[in-house]
Amino acid sequence: MDYLNSNAAPVREERLKTNIAFGGTAGELLECARSGCFGADGCLNQARRTFSQTIGCQFTLSLAVLYTMRKAVFVIHAPIGCGSQSVGSVGITQTLHKLRDERAEPLVWLSTNLDEADVITGGERKLRETVLFADAEFRPEAIIVCNTCVPSLIGDDLENIVNDLQTQVSATVVPVYCEGFKTKVMATAYDAIYHGVLKKYVRDPDRDKKLYESDLEKARREYLISRNVNILNVSSMSRADELEIQRLLTAIGLNVQFLPCYSEPEDFQYALESSLNVAICGTHDDYFVKHMQEKYGIPFIIDTIPIGRKNTARWLLKIAEHFELVDEARALIAYEDKLLDKALEPFRAELAEKTVFLGGGEVRVVGTAEIIQDLGMKIAGMKPHHFDEFIEPIFDVLEDIDGVPVDVATNQPFEQANLIRRIKPDLILSHTGGNNITAKYGVPILPIFGVSYNYMGYSGVYEVARRISRLLKNYQFNKRLSKNAPLPFKESWYEQDPFTYIAEI
Ligand code: SF4
Repeated sequence: MDYLNSNAAPVREERLKTNIAFGGTAGELLECARSGCFGADGCLNQARRTFSQTIGCQFTLSLAVLYTMRKAVFVIHAPIGCGSQSVGSVGITQTLHKLRDERAEPLVWLSTNLDEADVITGGERKLRETVLFADAEFRPEAIIVCNTCVPSLIGDDLENIVNDLQTQVSATVVPVYCEGFKTKVMATAYDAIYHGVLKKYVRDPDRDKKLYESDLEKARREYLISRNVNILNVSSMSRADELEIQRLLTAIGLNVQFLPCYSEPEDFQYALESSLNVAICGTHDDYFVKHMQEKYGIPFIIDTIPIGRKNTARWLLKIAEHFELVDEARALIAYEDKLLDKALEPFRAELAEKTVFLGGGEVRVVGTAEIIQDLGMKIAGMKPHHFDEFIEPIFDVLEDIDGVPVDVATNQPFEQANLIRRIKPDLILSHTGGNNITAKYGVPILPIFGVSYNYMGYSGVYEVARRISRLLKNYQFNKRLSKNAPLPFKESWYEQDPFTYIAEI
């Protein structure tokens, strides 16, 4: 895979044959996937809706990841409405930076504020002025320019403008092509970001010392590199998740560096002084790790996500195999399992047989389902944002899953409302992005991720159990909300099949 000669990453509909519309059971979906329906003409790849109610824009998801990056100023080349959610990101971003260390850098984002006149005359002048202002005013190490629908549609030549600006500013100027109209697969955003990062951030570390180091120093550096592992974190991970992952990998003798979230440009140079890249989530990272192997020869692992004890054990063992540390990893897993069993004991009786609906990113939904089964609860339904090759292996650790209803949909709240009415789950674990509507079902909700809470590794299983237990004891907020703020859908919609608008090919 090498797309770096192109200005922009390809969309996932083409590169991964990603599916965003499916209604049926998990058994049917898996059978379909295993019989090759992801092909160019495959039914999963070509599926669509004849009616659609809100999907995601890859630009907004790009901002969620980009805003975690340090020592950068962000230029949104767009009308003022694009990126308006940035106002709400300022406090969150500073808090999350501070959780990692004391440097709570301000989040600086600028909009080129394109208007009707710019649509006719072009947005080049405003973009140049904004980048030059950003460089002179803030002196950042990087200026990340996000391209959106309008400049792309009117034909602004971002690549040439950025190349020219690079000769006039001291910051590294990174174009990110994340126009919302180009794709219905929101996760294309990850490729758009990594495309810019791979082209502009990743390069050999500036180590003058290398020229003068003694044989002993060289041997020491090479040994450290042989134990270094890059863990590709995701913006939905908390600091507690990172510390848990670090604890487990350090326990078997590895050095961990987290990328790309909360990193600064220089960190990507030192990412080359590593023996292995490991994805927390294949959906998030495959573009980066595959290019890192292709271009720099660093191998990678994409397997499961370390959520749930079986997934965590599988993920750890894959890494341990690479470093020939399997015995150490097995001993650690046995020890952690024993501790976890004891810790979960008080929750088992109260949680047994409760039914749970899960919605959110594909890998997280199926990964978190393992915790649900571990706690003796039953999976009543799933709604992953999309479906592609990265999700299938994660089903391996689930039991008795074939008959579970699955709605593959990015948002589409009308389908979810219909499905929930039929399933009547005791609990919902879902993506915070849709919980303004989900909260009105009258059912307790646990966000499927939260940047202040622990979900990953062994401590994550305990933390999810503890929070579910507390939630089930009191969800008056949701009960009252369902009585006083009803959902907008008509009764006639609930009488129809929830998948009515998913088109057959
Ligand atoms: S779809 Fe286009 S216009 Fe709308 S927010 Fe996304 S980038 Fe902006």
